[in-house]
Amino acid sequence: RAKERAGNQYQMYSNDIESDSLEKIKLENDLFKALKHGNEFVLHYQPKVDMRTGNVIGMESLIRWEHPIYGLLPPKTFIPLAEETGIIAALGEWVIRESCRQMKEWYDEGMTNFVISANLSPQQLNQKNLVSTVAEILEETEVPPALLELELTENLIIHNTERTLSTIHELKQLGINISIDDFGTGYSSLGYLKDFPVDTLKIDKSFIDDITTNSSNAAITDTIITLAKSLQLDVIAEGVETQEQAHHLSEKGCHLIQGFYFSPPIEASEFKKQVSTIQTKR
Ligand code: C2E
Ligand code: MG
Ligand code: MG
Ligand code: MG
Repeated sequence: RAKERAGNQYQMYSNDIESDSLEKIKLENDLFKALKHGNEFVLHYQPKVDMRTGNVIGMESLIRWEHPIYGLLPPKTFIPLAEETGIIAALGEWVIRESCRQMKEWYDEGMTNFVISANLSPQQLNQKNLVSTVAEILEETEVPPALLELELTENLIIHNTERTLSTIHELKQLGINISIDDFGTGYSSLGYLKDFPVDTLKIDKSFIDDITTNSSNAAITDTIITLAKSLQLDVIAEGVETQEQAHHLSEKGCHLIQGFYFSPPIEASEFKKQVSTIQTKR
């Protein structure tokens, strides 16, 4: 109930920002301040699980804003505004740095086999200094590059320029991993896959939701899994909510699973405990 109400508030709130530009300006101002003071954003972490072993293989960092008045805001209420206003450059840099800082902390505590994934906004790929910034962060935090992954949306890759292509090549040369988020929603020819040095396809939640009842979505998912296999890419499913979906995917050859079935995104402090309960869940 309470959750539902909170959800409606977000809904009302985001409708308000569209219709009420004063409200939007206030939020934009808040966003600047929140970033400057640097303590109102927080990352939650969602485990990724290998169905063959039950092991957690990594986690995705997902940003939230602890707004002093509105409470914990999900990314959809402020990421679009951050993108519109250019704040995303600094915010996105914070996300990568904080993800790596947290990863290093876990690494030092013995969690050495996890790969941490951070989401990258399309605008960030156009930043001149993105590659050098990522290199700097890796050096500064002492995270092995192979343990960092950046998730790019398929749309970004479809509407690519020579520049985005070369930036992705340069990022790969740092030794990090590249994943295509929300894969399958881009309505593109798949030709671009041969040009882009990607490591992982992440099947969009929209195909997963009714995978056990909708034969079209099951077929699309099968095709993505086969495609990944023949291109020697990893494949992971997002938004997996039931054991049925998880088993279906694993039987079809998609063994990497992320979703509420194993865990919602959680605070860093809860992560270790969660890892041990996941092992028994599969
Ligand atoms: P995404 O990268 O595709 O992330 C997956 C979203 O699905 C997350 O929502 C996650 O909480 C949610 N999710 C995961 N498993 C399940 C499930 O089993 N059921 C359901 N119903 N939902 C599930 P969230 O955290 O609200 O993030 C939404 C989007 O906001 C992300 O989609 C991503 O595009 C963007 N985002 C989040 N963090 C960042 C960030 O640090 N930077 C940028 N640029 N974008 C971000
Ligand atoms: Mg993502
Ligand atoms: Mg996704
Ligand atoms: Mg998605």
